[in-house]
Amino acid sequence: MKYVLIQGDGMSDFPVESLGGLTPLEKAHTPNMDRLARAGRLGLARTIPDGYPAGTDVGTMSILGYDPSRYHTGRSPIEAASMGIEMSDTDVAFRCNLVTIENRDGGEVMCDFTAGHISNEDAEEIVRELQHELGDERFEFHPGVSYRHCMIWHGGPIATRTTPPHDITDQLVDGFLPAGEGQDDLRRLREAAREILAEHPANARREARGEKIATDIWLWGQGKRPAVPTLHARFGKTGGLITAVDVVGGLGRLAGLERIDVPGITGFIDTNYVGKGEYALRALDRHDLVFIHVESTDETGHMGDVELKVKAIEDLDEKVIGTVLAGIDRFGDYRVMVLPDHATPVSTKTHAADPVPFLIYDSRSSCGSGRAYNEREAAATGELIDEGHLLIGQFLAS
Ligand SMILES: [Zn+2]
Repeated sequence: MKYVLIQGDGMSDFPVESLGGLTPLEKAHTPNMDRLARAGRLGLARTIPDGYPAGTDVGTMSILGYDPSRYHTGRSPIEAASMGIEMSDTDVAFRCNLVTIENRDGGEVMCDFTAGHISNEDAEEIVRELQHELGDERFEFHPGVSYRHCMIWHGGPIATRTTPPHDITDQLVDGFLPAGEGQDDLRRLREAAREILAEHPANARREARGEKIATDIWLWGQGKRPAVPTLHARFGKTGGLITAVDVVGGLGRLAGLERIDVPGITGFIDTNYVGKGEYALRALDRHDLVFIHVESTDETGHMGDVELKVKAIEDLDEKVIGTVLAGIDRFGDYRVMVLPDHATPVSTKTHAADPVPFLIYDSRSSCGSGRAYNEREAAATGELIDEGHLLIGQFLAS
């Protein structure tokens, strides 16, 4: 038995007026997902437990079978795993944003939590300098991508109150500085980093080019390494993962999945959809399971572009799922599970925690839901998996 798990990130949605009250999933022409749902099991699953942010980290944890209320220890440690940073049990990972803070309105204002979407080149130079100047036996700075970096605090605290910088755009930062255990160290690091950044040649170059300057670091999203058992330990299955997104890659790494590089995958609508399908089939030569993550369905939701989102769903159906289905028969019996990690409605341009439609298809099964794959049909089945993290156990059960 082979298993194909497909996550259309943020794919589910709300009814859209310009689509005559249909959702993008209902509007999109998706013969492959519809066929699998008709001949398979269809329902709704709650991937975001009550009280949790509707993030890709939380939703993907549920999809991979890890109860977020037990295993979710913050965003940064998952990203650290993706960056290949080995953490010990006493290490605490902090997300370290490079940000632009300006003096105005009578204080320091968070102008840009991305430092003008700083380039990898400029950012890496800066973060290496921070490590050189501020790194010691307690603190370690690791360069990541663009404005997203990681600081490891050996033996650090986790209960400190920190604030995501994207939540305080255009606000005074004063009331949002780290508070509680460890606050003095964290504030001292920001002050010291500010002085280094003010003198840094990468910032001088950015200024000369008319780009935003990385004035500060912002430390948040801290946590310890989640002690998750691998999928192999839990279900006896080996697996590969295809994704262009770091946080999904990090969770896959913790789950023991082999990250499979596919040329030309971007996390956007220009991604190499067919390549994802082709490389997934190749991965099944050596693995029981392949997990394919597609991000464009989420990005187009964030853009609020309903036509692009419909197109992204159709591309996922035709080019990813179609490619997989065209070649999977050679492996014998197989199962396919399709679901998003959360909704990203085009009307709100941000994530929503509503239950998401899932389908599970088994090539051996002779009866099915008789329904197409979308939110309305999934709700009409009356099946709601309240703890979405239990779904993968049913999918992988023999
Ligand atoms: Zn997501």
